[in-house]
Amino acid sequence: MKVFVIIPAAGLGTRMGGLTAGAKPARVTATSKQFAEIGGAPILIHTLRKFEAVPEVSELVLALRADDAAAFEARLRKEGLGKKITLVAGGERRQESVASGLSRIDAAPDDVVLVHDAVRPFVDGEIIGNVIQAAARHGAAIAGLPAVDTVKQVDRTAEGAIVVSTIPRARVVLAQTPQGFRYDVLKKAFDEAQNDGFQGTDEASLVERTGHEVAVVMGSPQNIKITTPADLELAEFLLGQEQRRQAMLTR
Ligand code: C5P
Repeated sequence: MKVFVIIPAAGLGTRMGGLTAGAKPARVTATSKQFAEIGGAPILIHTLRKFEAVPEVSELVLALRADDAAAFEARLRKEGLGKKITLVAGGERRQESVASGLSRIDAAPDDVVLVHDAVRPFVDGEIIGNVIQAAARHGAAIAGLPAVDTVKQVDRTAEGAIVVSTIPRARVVLAQTPQGFRYDVLKKAFDEAQNDGFQGTDEASLVERTGHEVAVVMGSPQNIKITTPADLELAEFLLGQEQRRQAMLTR
């Protein structure tokens, strides 16, 4: 069984606002959060290193905006990562970026395909391994985090929102990535979504609508999706923590 990893990294990062505006060329583009640097390297490089370190992973496919590809390719060469990394053109939406990656994978039906957000660099080897195992076993699996806050369903209003109901917390998990699938399960889900014009915010939602069960394995609170400028400060802190832990283990 081979394991492929698709990393959609073609978002514009509009919620990052002007944070990286006026940044040096090392940041590649002015606004894309996946290229913002923490600890001297782009977030996307940190994310790639995590999957590089997992022996079961055979190949990576990275979906980038055309404008970013050349500069990032040069950065990748400098990094000298060992595994095969294929660059593909991302699309207007995340789902199109993942579809573009999926179309470039030469996989057997029971190979495993992981999809992971470029902007979640604090995923760890244990979560990746658990998602691979659960995906191979169940056909589909995601990393998820139990909700600690009480979850409300709301109607949006001009002034904000009005609560419609309370969703029992025990029945809620917050979906993270990686999300892992047997290739045949994911391909069928993407084909059906395309035929039906369905757009989801994650890959599991496409698989759910085919009727296939999706297992949940434990994610982690550190596995944050860097979305807003405030997240970058937290990211620097988490990186420092990670580096201290590594230093202790290798001492
Ligand atoms: O924008 P969102 O929070 O959904 O981004 C999640 C991931 O999807 C990011 O890694 C982003 O770069 C990627 N993405 C993409 N192509 C798009 C939009 C988002 O690859 N058109």
